[in-house]
Amino acid sequence: MDHLPIFLDVKSKSVAVIGGGVAAARRAETLLKAGARVTVFAASPSAEFAALSRDSLLLAGRDPVPADLPGCALCIVATDDEAADIAAHALAKEAGVLVNVAARPELCDFTLPAILDRDPVLIAISTGGASPILARKLRARLETLIPSGFGRLAEFVRASRPRVAEKLPDPTSRRRFWERLLDGPVAEAALTGNARAAEAGLADELSRGEAAHEGEVYLVGAGPGDPDLLTFRALRLMQQADVVLYDRLVEPAILDLVRREAERVYVGKRPQNHAAPQEEISRMLVDFAKRGRRVLRLKGGDPFVFGRGGEEIELLAEHGVAFQVCPGVTAAIGCSAYSGIPLTHRDHAQACIFVTAHGKEGPIARDWNALIRPGQTVAIYMGLGHIEEMMTTFVAQGVDPETPAAIIDNGARPNQRVVVAEVATLASAAREAALRGPTIIIVGSVVTLREKLNWNRMDGAGIHSPLLGEG
Ligand code: SAH
Repeated sequence: MDHLPIFLDVKSKSVAVIGGGVAAARRAETLLKAGARVTVFAASPSAEFAALSRDSLLLAGRDPVPADLPGCALCIVATDDEAADIAAHALAKEAGVLVNVAARPELCDFTLPAILDRDPVLIAISTGGASPILARKLRARLETLIPSGFGRLAEFVRASRPRVAEKLPDPTSRRRFWERLLDGPVAEAALTGNARAAEAGLADELSRGEAAHEGEVYLVGAGPGDPDLLTFRALRLMQQADVVLYDRLVEPAILDLVRREAERVYVGKRPQNHAAPQEEISRMLVDFAKRGRRVLRLKGGDPFVFGRGGEEIELLAEHGVAFQVCPGVTAAIGCSAYSGIPLTHRDHAQACIFVTAHGKEGPIARDWNALIRPGQTVAIYMGLGHIEEMMTTFVAQGVDPETPAAIIDNGARPNQRVVVAEVATLASAAREAALRGPTIIIVGSVVTLREKLNWNRMDGAGIHSPLLGEG
């Protein structure tokens, strides 16, 4: 962050504007809107200034002298002349006044952002001086997103706050009240200027009091790692949670998107070292929710695909705790897309099976010969720990040792690696590559498509995905 964004109160404070052209007039106009007392130093100010409100504007009719600047809150320079800009900047510095010189970032103590004004809501956009045009483009986009009545809504909230605070003294309940209110019909009424309906709706909500403020659990799939793979709903729930329970499969980049004030509880499980047993996690979910908190249970991939989501919500259902489940991109799907291995393909596979190599009691014995067969893709979760044993068993059970197979390590993450081999050679290739997991193993002739699609030869500019397997 190059600059500290702040909103400065300049009401009734003196601000010097040095320069008499259009750029100076625009800046004076903004300062006047913010309530500053503006003195313009220019021998002959342009006609632009004539259109500005005279109440707090003084046209000095001359260039500044050193005695003009001490005591000013700010100094804005826009003379359209390099030597004059530099001289004015020096005057301000001498007086110890923070100064901005138009179009000369090297002479600026602060920058003036592009502004989206929904008074009292203000959105200020800075590109750190890199491109004012880009800032303006961004503002134009925001203009279309933020309803023009947004200021009305903000005024309604401001006016109602004392009443709501009196009724709901607990800050957490109050925040939840507002969040719910601002998503609902009351806000809609305020936004469209229907003050009576907004008032009535607010009174109604307030009379319901605490009864409506029960906790809830959001069981959310965070996908395999790339934050871009989150759903809108996941993001929305992540941003309104009071507490988050997460495990090691959740990438830091995703955790960063959870509401900053949310309490974070790590309940990570490692295969051999259960940090928090399942019952304990379920118990925590119930307890937090019973205390009225909005609990985010953030899971890697999808909660219902080898995610024990079903187990976690059993206890919630038993205790009558409200919950919602938000799906996520499961690892096999993410790995498939980010490694260029389609899971089905009309020439290769008409079925795809997701299996886990690891069950509640340890490695799982299966009839692999029935699963790994022509026309069928098998995606194996939790397979790395037993890969030698597993591949040997496949062959022993009659699977063709030359069946194409791939292992995708840290799929859909910046450190993704893909190893392609055959059933007979995959284990040694994976060990050689020193993969650490998590991994997905894909077995079936679809694996050959990766080469055909040239995936392993594409660089970061490839069109297929932002993170490409490096082979
Ligand atoms: N619910 C998760 C799976 C949890 S089980 C989902 O839907 O994806 C944990 C296993 O998921 C890991 O052992 C590994 O097999 C797989 N996995 C999770 N994230 C992965 C990733 N980014 N890359 C490869 N495999 C991953």
